[in-house]
Amino acid sequence: MVKYEEFESAIGLNWYEIDPNLQQLMRRLLEPEDFEWCEPELRRIGALIGGPIAARAEVTDKNPPQLVKFDRHGERIDEIVHHPDAIATKRDIWESGIAGPRLRREAARRGRRYPEAMATALNFMLSQAETGMLCATGMTSGVFALVRRFAAPEVREQLLARLSAERFEDAWDGAMFMTERTGGSDLSTLTTSARWDGTRWLLNGSKWFCSNIDAGLIATLARPEGSQPGLRGLALFLVPRWRGDGTRNGIHVRRLKDKLGTRAVPTAEADFVDAEAYLLAGGESSDAQNARDGRGINRMMEMVNTSRHGVAVMGLGIMRRAFLESAIFAAHRTAFGRRLEELPMMRQTLVDMVVELEAAAALVFAACGEGALARVLVPLAKLRATRGGLNFASQAIEVHGGNGYIEDWPLARQLRDAQCHTIWEGTENIICLDVLRSLSDEQVLGSVLSALAAPTGQGDALFDRARTHLSRALAEIREALMFLARSGREIAQLRARAFAHYMADAVGAALLIKEAEWELERSGDARKALVAQIFVNSHLVNSPMRGVCSNDRVVLDLFEPLTRYGDISPAKAQRFLAQQP
Ligand SMILES: Cc1cc2nc3c(=O)[nH]c(=O)nc-3n(C[C@H](O)[C@H](O)[C@H](O)COP(=O)(O)OP(=O)(O)OC[C@H]3O[C@@H](n4cnc5c(N)ncnc54)[C@H](O)[C@@H]3O)c2cc1C
Repeated sequence: MVKYEEFESAIGLNWYEIDPNLQQLMRRLLEPEDFEWCEPELRRIGALIGGPIAARAEVTDKNPPQLVKFDRHGERIDEIVHHPDAIATKRDIWESGIAGPRLRREAARRGRRYPEAMATALNFMLSQAETGMLCATGMTSGVFALVRRFAAPEVREQLLARLSAERFEDAWDGAMFMTERTGGSDLSTLTTSARWDGTRWLLNGSKWFCSNIDAGLIATLARPEGSQPGLRGLALFLVPRWRGDGTRNGIHVRRLKDKLGTRAVPTAEADFVDAEAYLLAGGESSDAQNARDGRGINRMMEMVNTSRHGVAVMGLGIMRRAFLESAIFAAHRTAFGRRLEELPMMRQTLVDMVVELEAAAALVFAACGEGALARVLVPLAKLRATRGGLNFASQAIEVHGGNGYIEDWPLARQLRDAQCHTIWEGTENIICLDVLRSLSDEQVLGSVLSALAAPTGQGDALFDRARTHLSRALAEIREALMFLARSGREIAQLRARAFAHYMADAVGAALLIKEAEWELERSGDARKALVAQIFVNSHLVNSPMRGVCSNDRVVLDLFEPLTRYGDISPAKAQRFLAQQP
């Protein structure tokens, strides 16, 4: 069991070794051949993130990047100056393999594909320290994927080499500038223009939110001259920070945003002034016709879906950090002669947190693949984990009492950072609309319903109750979808949020049941079965009298194995399940 009372602080611990749920996910999701080489890396990088990277994150937050517009001769330079600790962390991230090519090359050397679950696990641990850093590395891998698929052959290899350089000093970051002053949700109004001068594309216009502004390669949307209005008139471009001749490209930084959080990453307002750009259209040449094929927005959305998953991981990281800090604090602090963790309502708070955390983790890790299922799991994961991060950071501050509200303690920053993630890469409303849109595709709907209906297990009675409630929920979800399909646009949009949350509840329950079946079969441990049932109770069951008159004592009596990850025998779990609604 995890001994929270032995820890003085989360910083300094190995964040892989103290996270049994992450270890379980890795054991389940990685093929044995991958687990063998990935696990030592997870342990090594878990110590790096929980140690120096986590410690430096506090320094970076207090010493955010600065914009230097001009050099001493008055020449425009628009340089971003980072604190040395931020640079040290960026280097660690690159060289350790959290980002950068190291672990991908190791997988290739072994003849294996680099597992998505491994990348997600590393990003999850990094997000517990500092989500702003993941913003930069996530966009770099997003731009890498765009270049690989859509860059013209004559520049592709050279750009990919920059984005995956072995040495930190040689590597270029990626970024993605879409939002303009007119808005980020509705991109149809974008006005940045693109002109083909016979040899190259030149971009002009202003971007309003530009994170990782000093990246080497910026993916952006612009409107080629003469193209149609609206979304279909947009083309996808890549703007390098440096022109081919080594001079600065036409990217003028107006100012850095004074942000509430995520201060590690500089977010700017910037103008493109005859900025040279490569068209990303997948064709053999960069001609004007390719730019007007109406599919620029679809290409951009490929990166957006990946980076939406990255933002879900950020939310999940904050959930985990908030839980860990709360568990440590509650194991030390006393009130009324008892440790906080012994007080009944505090037990409820911590059990609720650990259950929600495991449900969100199940969703985020299930969403890290590709294909039809990911198309809906990614927005669901973003919806759940980013709101979860915000709620958890707030709840953890409450657990810490007045201290939690003070910047000397680690949670005020987490709350400031968490507020960004519900907005980044699509606000909550936009994400809910996306869930509905994704399910209008028959293939996506089919794969979701069959994945959800799957948990049949070995017929173990431990799961009977949870499965019954899940089946009922799934029948309702199908009915709700049919209703929304025939109810017209206004009503469908009005109910999109309620629908998306219902869907996330059902998916979360189904995934937890699957995890619990796997764990029971592997080790005979029924802890996860209880976690699944508690999640089902709070999300899919209307308890009589709101549960006030329930005799259910699971939170009081099994607090320790639930929050410290101890084993629970099936017989014991069954006794407690009998008290459930
Ligand atoms: C710190 C930070 C960094 C960022 N970095 C980048 C970046 O690097 N690149 C980039 O391109 N953008 C970036 N953004 C911008 C971000 O993507 C946008 O803020 C976001 O997409 C929302 O756009 P908006 O701010 O224009 O809000 P709006 O689109 O104006 O939305 C305002 C409100 O209206 C709601 N709304 C909009 N449409 C609907 C609808 N159909 N139904 C119901 N409600 C709706 C939204 O949910 C929101 O609540 C960043 C934002 C932040 C805060």
